[in-house]
Amino acid sequence: MPTSDEPLFSAEEISEMPQRLDEAMQWHLAWSQRLLRCALLGEAPAEDMLQANAHQLCEFGRWFGPISTRLQQIEPLCVHNLDVAHTNMHRAIRELYLAVLEKRHVDSYWFEAFEHNQAAMVQELAQLKEQFVRVRAQSDPLTGLPLRHGLDTLFSVRQNDAERSGNALFIALADADHFKKINDRHGHPTGDAALAHLAKTLKSALRGNDQVLRYGGEEFMLIFLSTDNEAAGHVAERLLELVRASPMPLPDGQMLHLTISIGMTRALLHDSLESAVRRADVALYQAKRRGRDRLEWALAETAEPA
Ligand code: GH3
Ligand code: MG
Ligand code: MG
Repeated sequence: MPTSDEPLFSAEEISEMPQRLDEAMQWHLAWSQRLLRCALLGEAPAEDMLQANAHQLCEFGRWFGPISTRLQQIEPLCVHNLDVAHTNMHRAIRELYLAVLEKRHVDSYWFEAFEHNQAAMVQELAQLKEQFVRVRAQSDPLTGLPLRHGLDTLFSVRQNDAERSGNALFIALADADHFKKINDRHGHPTGDAALAHLAKTLKSALRGNDQVLRYGGEEFMLIFLSTDNEAAGHVAERLLELVRASPMPLPDGQMLHLTISIGMTRALLHDSLESAVRRADVALYQAKRRGRDRLEWALAETAEPA
């Protein structure tokens, strides 16, 4: 994992990722070919081929393992499917190969599993590559954060994650307070630097699969799982505190103090992104009205306000 104030992927990594993914596919195909040679020509298999954790030992696995957590934050469903397909593909080929070595009946089920998972890997890698080509074109150059693109998918993936893990999904809109005054007093370039600083501060507070996006001008969206409203409230309060405690140094040595207001809602099982965002927006408006630098929850009946 990167330390929290580093970007998820550097601009250089993003620009090279489509090519890395092509290479990964080549490694994988080369591995499959090696295995086929051993099975068909009776050559001795390499040690990594038949082990239960062969999917971690092959060249693709050694590349994918350490990077998969970060990749998951770009395209969670695809990376999950890729991991599953790769692991299952290795399992299928191991079963097939052992049957050949031990001169047992070769069950066609395993061959179909091999074919299916191999095809799924090719497809998921192609999709991941396409996504990186898009990320390359759609990350916000000022803050390095993703923009709204893909938000619908991210939302439904996180809803599934929440259901599966027994956690709840929360959407928070965080808007910089009195940002117009910052631009007016210090100039637009300082305003830009303040937004980049704010993005970095918000990112530094995130864990694992939490996601922060630049939702609009001086507005950010956080999507995260938490055990309950109380724990999610602590996350938001921690963000408010962190922003308060992280002023940006100005060239003249002064510190530019920043605060944000947060409107938060809990996304229910069959919530749409639109309705969750609408509620978070109403809560944000309340936070502004009630003095800023504070958290307000959505008051919608179904949103179980804390
Ligand atoms: P409030 O506390 O109510 O949110 O007040 P505010 O001044 O932050 O809100 P308002 O919506 O009136 O103004 C938002 C300002 O944010 C105006 C806009 O110029 C500025 N802004 C939006 N995007 C950028 C940007 O990319 N760079 C800079 N420097 N300013 C931006
Ligand atoms: Mg604002
Ligand atoms: Mg705003």
